Amino acid sequence: MRILVTGGAGFIGSHLSERLVEQGHDVVCLDNYFTGSKHNVQKLLGHHHFELIRHDVINYIDIECDQIYNLACPASPIHYQHDAVRTIHANVLGVTNMLELAKRTRARILQASTSEVYGDPQVHPQPESYWGHVNPIGPRSCYDEGKRVAETLMMDYHRQHAVDIRIARIFNTYGPRMAVHDGRVVSSFIVQALQGKPITVFGAGTQTRSFCFVSDMVGALIALMNAEGASRPVNLGNPEEFTIRQLAETVREITGSKSPILTQPLPQDDPVQRQPDIGLARKLLGWSPTVSLREGLAPTIAYFEQLVYRMSRGSAGNPLAERLSRSMPERLAAIEVENRNGGGERISGDEHAGGGERAGGGERAGSVERAGSGDGDRRQAADRRRAGRRIGS
Ligand code: NAD
Ligand code: UDP
Repeated sequence: MRILVTGGAGFIGSHLSERLVEQGHDVVCLDNYFTGSKHNVQKLLGHHHFELIRHDVINYIDIECDQIYNLACPASPIHYQHDAVRTIHANVLGVTNMLELAKRTRARILQASTSEVYGDPQVHPQPESYWGHVNPIGPRSCYDEGKRVAETLMMDYHRQHAVDIRIARIFNTYGPRMAVHDGRVVSSFIVQALQGKPITVFGAGTQTRSFCFVSDMVGALIALMNAEGASRPVNLGNPEEFTIRQLAETVREITGSKSPILTQPLPQDDPVQRQPDIGLARKLLGWSPTVSLREGLAPTIAYFEQLVYRMSRGSAGNPLAERLSRSMPERLAAIEVENRNGGGERISGDEHAGGGERAGGGERAGSVERAGSGDGDRRQAADRRRAGRRIGS
């Protein structure tokens, strides 16, 4: 099958793309590198079943495909709140564009929704039938309400245009390739512990989350995509529930860190408790997670250990370390400049449009960057050279 993964250079998207390529599918990964990076898909660059396109889902793009996983959206609170309007657009315009594509190609589309659709839930654990408790005008609403409208659009395209849909309500997922400075709790605690810095627990640390390891999540997403009769939202996550303080202590114990725990103010609208009811996923998909928090933390910590080591050696001449050492405003400024310049060193869409694919939807959509298509050796070589120079652009 030919499978489109938007947000495919991100944390979950890169693991998903890898699994799909392993299964023998042709994977087309779309990403604007806002929070993801080429480094995440480095293993796949040049693989004859993999193609990478630099594109913002806010603009329409036309690609032949059989399935679409729509993951493109910043996922951590600091990232999605940095440019709230852009976050809503990525959700609402992004999913609309992908639904239009699914309608035209008759592809099945899976939307990466979120446990945030339940907001600060008053029902615990959360079943799919719960409508949620969301602040529509708060700092998290660009993400929460954006994802809720995306679900509405999915259901309306299904009812009105018979688009074949899947909606995955993803609960907190962690693992290697989370962005090092994304402020999410697992990556933050691990990096703080490894660097011997204070572990920042927000509020009393009594709020709870349920953490799913990325390999389990990828299995669930693929199972949901391929399940029949699953056009309603399905919760995906690991129901093992921990307080944030417990997580801090577990990370400190596994890393052997002496970092103190530092209490900081709780962000506005931070949900007090979160635990998925995965009864529907068990019944419909025969799926349940297999990796415990301690088991999943081990490879995650090993991944961050490498990064922290590289960062400690300085970033000069090391593209990954350079990227990691850039602050978020610096990264965003760099992305803005690249977008204004039409994407810097991108290969133009016109030059490489083929096989019925054509970028559309305005000025920016005509300029897409591709790498790794089966017959594009010249393109791949050019892209590898660029990737070497500017991984994580
Ligand atoms: P991530 O930030 O690593 O991945 C998101 C990817 O989308 C990045 O590669 C980013 O560059 C790309 N992207 C963002 N805006 C884009 C745009 N406008 N056009 C094209 N690409 C764009 O985050 P993740 O944790 O891998 O999350 C993937 C998806 O899963 C997101 O939709 C997120 O909302 C959802 N989700 C994740 C979690 C979690 O705990 N990780 C929980 C719930 C939902
Ligand atoms: N959190 C924390 N310290 C941090 C980052 C997050 O205590 O350095 C808390 C945060 O307040 C929230 C929980 O950890 O209660 C999960 O936060 P995250 O941003 O990872 O995900 P989300 O809130 O979206 O579930």
